[in-house]
Amino acid sequence: MTNFADTTSPLAPGSVAQAGPLLGSLEKTLQDEYSVMRLPDDVATLDPADAAKVRAVVTSGRNGVPSALMAALPNLEIVTNFGVGYDTTDVAQAVARGIQVTHTPDVLTDCVADTALGLMLDVFRRFGASERFLREGRWESAGFPLTRRFSGSTVGVLGLGRIGQAIARRAAAFDATILYTTRRPVDDVPWEHVASAVELARRSDVLVVAVPGGAATEGLVDAQVIRALGQDGFLVNIARGSVVDEDALIAALEGGEIAGAGLDVFAHEPHVPERLIRDDVTLLPHVGSGTHETRRDMRDLTLANLRAYLAGEPLPTPVPEMSAV
Ligand code: NAP
Repeated sequence: MTNFADTTSPLAPGSVAQAGPLLGSLEKTLQDEYSVMRLPDDVATLDPADAAKVRAVVTSGRNGVPSALMAALPNLEIVTNFGVGYDTTDVAQAVARGIQVTHTPDVLTDCVADTALGLMLDVFRRFGASERFLREGRWESAGFPLTRRFSGSTVGVLGLGRIGQAIARRAAAFDATILYTTRRPVDDVPWEHVASAVELARRSDVLVVAVPGGAATEGLVDAQVIRALGQDGFLVNIARGSVVDEDALIAALEGGEIAGAGLDVFAHEPHVPERLIRDDVTLLPHVGSGTHETRRDMRDLTLANLRAYLAGEPLPTPVPEMSAV
């Protein structure tokens, strides 16, 4: 396959395309530098002549390049994903066709871990609920009910990668006991590896989910795992909505089988089931990495990957599956 870098002529219009909405400043740079083509939401409406021009797609975890879209782009060479999670892109097809895929690890780890801590503190201490209580003028007639101590609790981290480890380090500063579950125990960490998600939930006051999304982890946190948390246990999810069985979570909350949940991600974003909007659930609109600083760093890394590819240089952050390409 011809690489952009082998092309001596200027980049043909339409070579770089955008799938789904992106950060405003990233869209502007792509427009200014590459006259980017915006791909339609419905792949059936994509003109085959336009599709044939596309050699690079810039996207985000929200949209990705799913199977049908990738199949419709015969000359695609690279997908640069804004975000560390790339479960919406068909990586198996990319590997099979020799298409590069990049993402933005590390630069968002701290903000996502901060969000997990915020959710954990909120589900234990109910700061959001107590603030609503004050704003509603209810403090005039009663004090806010007592809550639960987070410091010194047992935190179970499901997925101890970049973000999971950053969560564990932060929770350890609150004197929490850290347990974790991964498929393979992690070297050189001081925390106990627990073999299964059910066992992890059973031994934890709060289970915090930090595994990748996608088919391999879909429904990993099922009814059995959720119930294992017990009536005093909390669930926090900053990973992907697909990892948690949302119906089972709702049933456990409604049945009083767990104490509450803190969620930054949902199965069908931006739709949040009415039955999840409860006082014992803290709900965030997928803001894990949503700070000016981190989104800027994610934009810069997305562009660095695209520019490196165009220049024929090594990609800064290919996804791990690219070692097979
Ligand atoms: P990472 O470094 O690749 O870590 C993933 C961890 O999950 C690894 O420890 C991995 O260990 C473990 N894991 C994978 N499959 C598992 C399974 N079936 N059971 C148990 N553990 C499993 O990824 P990261 O950078 O920490 O990011 C994690 C995820 O966070 C991303 O993929 C993304 O979906 C999500 N995220 C969310 C936001 C947000 O805004 N809320 C922002 C950024 C990222 P093993 O391979 O040994 O199992």
